[in-house]
Amino acid sequence: MSTAFENAMLQLEKAAKVIDLDPNVLKLLQAPERIIQLKVPVKMDSGEIKIFNGYRVQYNNLAGPYKGGIRYFPSVDLDEVKALAFWMTIKCSVAGIPMGGGKGGVAVNPKELSKGELERLSRAFGKAIAPNIGPLVDVPAPDVYTNAEIMNWVKESFIEYKKNQAKEIGVEMTAEQIKKLDAVITGKAVDQGGSLGRDRATAMGGFMILQNMVETRLTASLQPTIAIQGFGNAGGVMAELCSAAGYKVVAVSDSGSGVYNEAGLNISEVIKHKQSTGGLKGFAGAKEITNAELLETACDVLIPAALENQITADNAEQVKAKFILELANGPVTPEADVILAKNGIKSVPDVLTNSGGVTVSYFEWEQNLAGSHWTEDEVFAKLKAIIVPAFTEIWQLAEEKKIDLRTAAFAKALLRLQTLWYNAK
Ligand code: NAD
Repeated sequence: MSTAFENAMLQLEKAAKVIDLDPNVLKLLQAPERIIQLKVPVKMDSGEIKIFNGYRVQYNNLAGPYKGGIRYFPSVDLDEVKALAFWMTIKCSVAGIPMGGGKGGVAVNPKELSKGELERLSRAFGKAIAPNIGPLVDVPAPDVYTNAEIMNWVKESFIEYKKNQAKEIGVEMTAEQIKKLDAVITGKAVDQGGSLGRDRATAMGGFMILQNMVETRLTASLQPTIAIQGFGNAGGVMAELCSAAGYKVVAVSDSGSGVYNEAGLNISEVIKHKQSTGGLKGFAGAKEITNAELLETACDVLIPAALENQITADNAEQVKAKFILELANGPVTPEADVILAKNGIKSVPDVLTNSGGVTVSYFEWEQNLAGSHWTEDEVFAKLKAIIVPAFTEIWQLAEEKKIDLRTAAFAKALLRLQTLWYNAK
């Protein structure tokens, strides 16, 4: 199977052909601008020092500071981080926000660490990347298995680094200057400078697209059936939003297992069960299913919201959904794309579907730099004003050029990057 980065490059080349992209812009986007590889030493509770591999890839900053999450996951490697950083470049451009693309990660299973070890790892990672990030340089955020608390530790390491740097040249930073450094990280807790709505933004953006799709493209089935893979920040909140809207969520899953009920799951009960038991196993009133079965569930909309490479050449033929809404990054491989298209299944691509996260991250950054605070209603109204027109434009471009939605989204993003490149020359 091809790697995530190879898949990302195939997507790039396909869209570049459709719009006859300037070969220099194509070349520029075929490799990251900067790769930072880190060794992160952490004192474990046992007293042993463990060295973790960390990465930050700064892919492209034509549109603005590099922007992208930090992932803690055992299989994190350079190839994956490069692919994710490239997709961030495209995603920010799809949303039309003044941010470039970057991504970071540490190869670790945070579930195996104690709270103290997790904090020491995050502070050490923050210290290691501090010279390479900054509000106008590179602005990280949470991703898989990282959260607001982890972001706060990374931010504190960065602020420490800046204060020490100032001290070295005999300058004491003012409280106001330190406050502005909040903008170095997004996805912070609200009392640490985070934006209202950021915690639900990724799912909310995807949900706004789903709602628009239901209203404008799925009128035959006003109460669509939904299956969601992944029950974390993206998938769990999406399940809640779908259920609150009256859509029938028939199946959900996490890394352990999945649950299915043809009549629709009671999502608030599923959440309670997951909170009290740590997983979905044993949820009453539903059939236990595997993750493989979840992807093959008969439903209107399948929402992969866990990891990349979930729908592949091996299982795409078995997908029974009418639409796929990619809330995860890179869940469908290029080989699977071909099979899905042959079977008339449309995929709304990740670079559009989950762009609500980075868009509200950008709002958070904007509020931090301006010292302002928006209400959650304002945040979601501004998000809707970006994501729904982007979806409509991409859908229309796809119909007009007879291309798939992913290629249309990439085409929209690449045309903007090309203009930015011409303007910067
Ligand atoms: P999370 O850590 O909150 O949740 C991940 C979920 O995936 C968990 O429920 C976990 O149990 C499940 N999972 C892990 N391995 C699995 C497997 N093999 N099969 C099925 N489920 C599995 O992470 P998240 O923030 O919800 O991110 C999920 C996806 O959404 C990722 O691809 C991420 O890059 C993407 N994303 C997240 C955000 C955000 O703001 N959180 C923004 C954009 C994109």
